[in-house]
Amino acid sequence: MPRLVMKFGGTSVADLDRIRNAAMKVRREVERGFDVAVVVPAMAGKTNELVGWVDRTAQFYDAREYDAVVASGENVTAGLMALTLQEMGVPARSWQGWQVPMLTNSSHGAARIMEIDTTRLVQKFGEGLHAVIAGFQGVSPEGRITTLGRGGSDTSAVAFAAALGAERCDIYTDVDGVYTTDPRITKKARKLAKISYEEMLELASLGAKVLQTRSVELAMRYKVRLQVLSSFDDLPGTLVCDEEEVLESRVVSGIAHSRDEAKLTVLGVPDRPGIAAAIFGPLASGGVNVDMIVQNIGADGRTDMTFSCPVDEVPRAVKALEETRDAGEVNYLRLDIDENVSKVSIVGIGMRSQAGVAHRMFEALAADGVNIKVITTSEIKVSVLIDRKYLELAVQALHDAFGLDKAS
Ligand code: ADP
Ligand code: ASP
Ligand code: MG
Repeated sequence: MPRLVMKFGGTSVADLDRIRNAAMKVRREVERGFDVAVVVPAMAGKTNELVGWVDRTAQFYDAREYDAVVASGENVTAGLMALTLQEMGVPARSWQGWQVPMLTNSSHGAARIMEIDTTRLVQKFGEGLHAVIAGFQGVSPEGRITTLGRGGSDTSAVAFAAALGAERCDIYTDVDGVYTTDPRITKKARKLAKISYEEMLELASLGAKVLQTRSVELAMRYKVRLQVLSSFDDLPGTLVCDEEEVLESRVVSGIAHSRDEAKLTVLGVPDRPGIAAAIFGPLASGGVNVDMIVQNIGADGRTDMTFSCPVDEVPRAVKALEETRDAGEVNYLRLDIDENVSKVSIVGIGMRSQAGVAHRMFEALAADGVNIKVITTSEIKVSVLIDRKYLELAVQALHDAFGLDKAS
């Protein structure tokens, strides 16, 4: 029988009624003849609560125990979903990550999937038993519970779809598809019928949290047909697919934002070869996800280095930089920190062949008086760091400037 993976988001399984609503969608697909693997996350808010408990128990916690606690939210939903399906006459059982097993590496809190052994799942499909899989969690080679990073049940879903050779991976969420920008920021955001893997990957990694970045990477690598659609309405969603399948042609397809960024400037560092490695090595070892980097023009043998990172990683960044200075490895003069910045990015494969896109972006921002602090570009995106208070304004200005509210 053909197989289908259906993943529901936290809001879509937030209470027993919503689990029932999701289970009805599962039953519909079962009746269409699919062997279904349902991937579920924790009920809305549960993972935050669990993370909060860990933080309040231990400041520098053992990541293995963090995972043991935080993975538990998914176990509850998986059991409840299996029960709900059974009550509806759909034979189903729950699977925790270790039971499948889904093997990951040992990077607790951000584990990478290494292998999914589908033998037992497939055997149970053969017995008519549909699968409800606890998303977000796996088991390490040491036999410890691991988690895949926040939003990781998207990645579980795509990985299971690839491993099972599923016809499709349907991601049910609280919006009815992928929009030109976060529909919570502007009402003019427009749903896209299709988007290429490459563009979706950029949007996700630049802050559009509708899909976890890693899930898009996996879908692209294994050519999983990925669909994003609403848990609440029966509307066509968005298909994430190969570039050739996308019929709309546009220069910019979407705008992503990442609200809680920080900008750090290390002032007066010695301008010598190896200085960047000396600064960014310790930051990486300290677990800081450095994003944009700018090195200023040097003078008098010294220079300034500016970088951005998520705002909640600032304490770690400061600790790493101070330790490097105390160890005499980088003698900078001062560290300036701006914790009130956000990143806004335009994304589109059309940029490969069109010149002047960045210029249009800068003009649109300037027209609204938005000052740009840092810029980075790649083949299909341009990102800028701006004051957080201008975030909504900037997204709206760019959405208008690139005509994203109109179908092309
Ligand atoms: P789930 O709990 O279902 O995993 P998430 O909260 O992780 O849902 O992702 C869905 C949210 O992603 C939406 O509510 C929306 O605010 C946000 N989002 C950001 N950018 C986009 C976009 N371009 N298109 C659709 N949703 C987006
Ligand atoms: N429950 C996890 C989280 O909140 C995983 C997920 O929802 O995808 O991050
Ligand atoms: Mg999510």
